[in-house]
This record gives sequence, C-alpha cells and structure tokens, in this order.
Amino acid sequence: MTGAMPQGEPCIFCDIAAERAPAHRIYDDRSTAAFLDIFPFTRGHLLVIPKRHGARLTDLPFDDQVALVRTLDEVCRRVERLTPDYNVALNAGANAGQIVFHVHFHVIPRYGESNPFLGPGRARLRDDDARELVRELSRA
Ligand code: 5GP
Ligand code: ZN
Repeated sequence: MTGAMPQGEPCIFCDIAAERAPAHRIYDDRSTAAFLDIFPFTRGHLLVIPKRHGARLTDLPFDDQVALVRTLDEVCRRVERLTPDYNVALNAGANAGQIVFHVHFHVIPRYGESNPFLGPGRARLRDDDARELVRELSRA
C-alpha cells in the first residue's frame, strides 16, 4: 500500500510519498522516501518516511520498519557528505512534538552552531539551496 491513508483523511506525507504533493526528494524506493524538511532546523535537514501510512513506528509492519531503518542508514551516509555530525530524531505523539502524524525520522546535520532547537523561528527552505542540496544528496 502506498500513499493511502485509511478513512480518506488528508496526510501531507502520504501525498508526498505518492508524488501528489511536491517535495525536494533525495531518495525514493518501493516503500520509503527521503526529502528536505520545508522548515529546516539546519542546512540539509531531511525527513525519512515509509510510503505506507502509520502515525508512529509501532503502527508499521515489521518489513516497513526494516525498510525505513535501511533508508535512514542510507540517508545518514549521504548527510555525512555535508558533515559527520547530525541528530536523528523521531517524535511520537503530540506531547513529544509530533505535528505530522505520519511516522518520520528527522536527520538534522550539525555544523557547530548553537542549539538550533531552542532558537527563533525556522526560515522556510530556499529553492536555490534546496536544488543544490538535492544535487549533493541524491547521488547514491
Ligand atoms: P514533527 O514535529 O511532526 O516530527 O515534524 C514534522 C516536520 O515536517 C517539521 O519539521 C515540518 O517542518 C515538516 N513539514 C511539515 N509539512 C511539510 C511539507 O509539506 N513538506 C515538507 N518537506 N516538510 C514538511
Ligand atoms: Zn500518511
């Protein structure tokens, strides 16, 4: 099952998975995808998703969990082209800061800046920088 949310409720990550919504995608396979976060904490902030809808990791069948972590590993290797330092995060539930209820890992490159999670509002991803990042990170 790809890009289909039960009960027909809208889900932006299902739409991105199914290419009904745009995203700066750096990785795609049968069951997973990775793309740039639209409000990055740092340059190159990525999201890694399963194509099957599930709000949280524990909602996914085991095979999708395995595929997701395999893609997470691939994305981390590519992020290491930018910097060896990064955060991997998964927010599960509103009280943990989850705002998009389709499971995703954040991969957030770190360049020695002060804590980006405490700073002021995040600027929207710039198209020119997004294109440059896609060029750097799409290559296997
Ligand atoms: P959460 O707080 O749910 O773990 O994080 C959701 C993330 O998704 C946020 O960092 C937010 O900027 C990102 N996001 C929300 N909507 C979109 C979208 O339409 N496109 C992209 N690329 N990122 C999104
Ligand atoms: Zn979804």
